[in-house]
Amino acid sequence: MNLRIHNTLTRTVEPFAPIVPGHVRMYVCGITIYDYCHVGHARFLMAFDVVSRWLRTLGYRVTYVRNITDIDDKIIRRALERGIAIRQLTAEMTQAMHEDVAALGIEAPTFEPRATEHVGGMLSMIATLEAKGLAYRSADGDVNFAVRKFPGYGKLSGKSLDQLRAGERVAVLGAKQDPLDFVLWKAAKASEPEDAKWDSPFGRGRPGWHIECSAMCKALLGEEFDIHGGGADLTFPHHENEIAQSEGANESGRFARVWMHNGLLNLDNEKMSKSLGNFFTIRDVLERYDGETLRFFFLRAHYRSALAYSDASLADARGALRRLYTALDGTPAPEGFVLDWAEPRAAAFRDAMNDDFGTPEAVAVLFELATELNRTRSGSTAGLLKALGATLGLLQQPPRAFLQGGAATGGLDEQAIAERIAARAAAKQARDFKLADAIRDELAAQGIALKDSAQGTVWVKS
Ligand SMILES: [Zn+2]
Repeated sequence: MNLRIHNTLTRTVEPFAPIVPGHVRMYVCGITIYDYCHVGHARFLMAFDVVSRWLRTLGYRVTYVRNITDIDDKIIRRALERGIAIRQLTAEMTQAMHEDVAALGIEAPTFEPRATEHVGGMLSMIATLEAKGLAYRSADGDVNFAVRKFPGYGKLSGKSLDQLRAGERVAVLGAKQDPLDFVLWKAAKASEPEDAKWDSPFGRGRPGWHIECSAMCKALLGEEFDIHGGGADLTFPHHENEIAQSEGANESGRFARVWMHNGLLNLDNEKMSKSLGNFFTIRDVLERYDGETLRFFFLRAHYRSALAYSDASLADARGALRRLYTALDGTPAPEGFVLDWAEPRAAAFRDAMNDDFGTPEAVAVLFELATELNRTRSGSTAGLLKALGATLGLLQQPPRAFLQGGAATGGLDEQAIAERIAARAAAKQARDFKLADAIRDELAAQGIALKDSAQGTVWVKS
C-alpha cells in the first residue's frame, strides 16, 4: 500500500504524491513563544515529527518548515510585564522550547523561521493583495483582508460566508467592512513598545498573525507545496485566512495541496490552553515522566483523534513501553540488523503507517513482536522490534537505561542499590534466605524490583 493522507480540504483520505517527485515540502504552524510550551504543544510537535520521520523512512527527501511566532499581543504584554525587551523574552523562550523539544526526541525541522525575520515578505504580500483589491486600509489605520473579494473563502472549513458569520460571536465590526475580515497590518499604538513597531508603506505598525505564515511559506517553500499542517483549532480562522492570503496574492493562485490537522489534547475534557489556565508545561510533565513515555502516550492514539491527558494514561503508557523494553532486555537486538520490509510484520507495520500514519496499529505490531520475542528469544525478532521502533523514534535507549529510569526510588542511588543487591547475594550464599527475602522486600517497598538470572541480579524500577 502506498501512502495515503487525510486532507482536511477534501475531507477524504487521498493517495499522496509530492509535486516534485521524491521531495516533500511541508509547513507546520509553530508556537507563539511568550511562555514555556504546554503539553498540548507537544501533541502537534510529535504528530508532525512522526509525519516527517515516516516520509523519510519511505525514502523521500523532506523539507520541513516549522515557524516561530515572535511578535504578537501576548508577547508584547509579557515583555512589558517583565520589563524586558521583546527579543530577550523570545530568545529565552525559544531556547527553553528547544530544550523541551529535544527531551521529547523531536527532530529539528529543516528551517525554523522567525516571523520578525520575514516582515519584508509580509509587506510585499500585503501590497500585492491591496493592488488586487483584496485588501483595504480602514479608518483606524489597519490594513484588512476583504473576505468577500476572495471567492474561495470558507473552502477549508466547508462553510459559506453566511455560515461562518453565524458561527462567530457577534463580531465587533469596528472599521472592518465585514465581521470576518481580518487584519494584515496593525497600525502602531502609542502604548506599545518601540521594539514592536516596523516602518512600512502602510504606516508604522506590525503584521497580523495570519500573514506571517503565508509569507514564511512562500519564502521557504515557494507558492505551491505539498503539506500544510497544524492543530485542528487552527483550521478556522487561521488556516482559512492563510489560504485566502496566499491564493489571493500568489501569481499561480495556488498554495498547499494537502491540509493535515492533529486532534487536540484535552485535560478533564477541556481543550488545554493557557487562556483556560489548565495547562501543564512540558517541563511539568517531564519531571514525572521521561520524554519517551510521553512520545509513546501520543503515538498510541491516532494523530487526528482527540486525546485526554491524565496521570493514569501516562502511567499506563510507561507500563506498556516497559513491556517492550523488557522484551529487548531479555534478548538484545543484534548490531547491524537490516530491516526487510517484505517480512510480514514489517509489511503490516508499513501498511498501518501508510494508512494516514496509523500509529495505534503500528504500535500493536510492536507488541506482537515483543510477545514473540519473549517466547522465542530470537535475535532477528529483537532486531525487527528495535528497527521498527526507530522509525517512530522509540526503543533506541539501552533497555536497562530505560528500565532503571523514571519512577521514584525512595531516595536510593545506584550505589546504595548495588550494595543491597550484594548484601542479598551474600545472605543467599550463607543460606540465610530470610535475610535475602527481607532485603528484596525492602527494595520492593521503595519501588525497586530485582530480577535474578544466570548472569546475576539486575534491578528495574517497578
Ligand atoms: Zn500558521
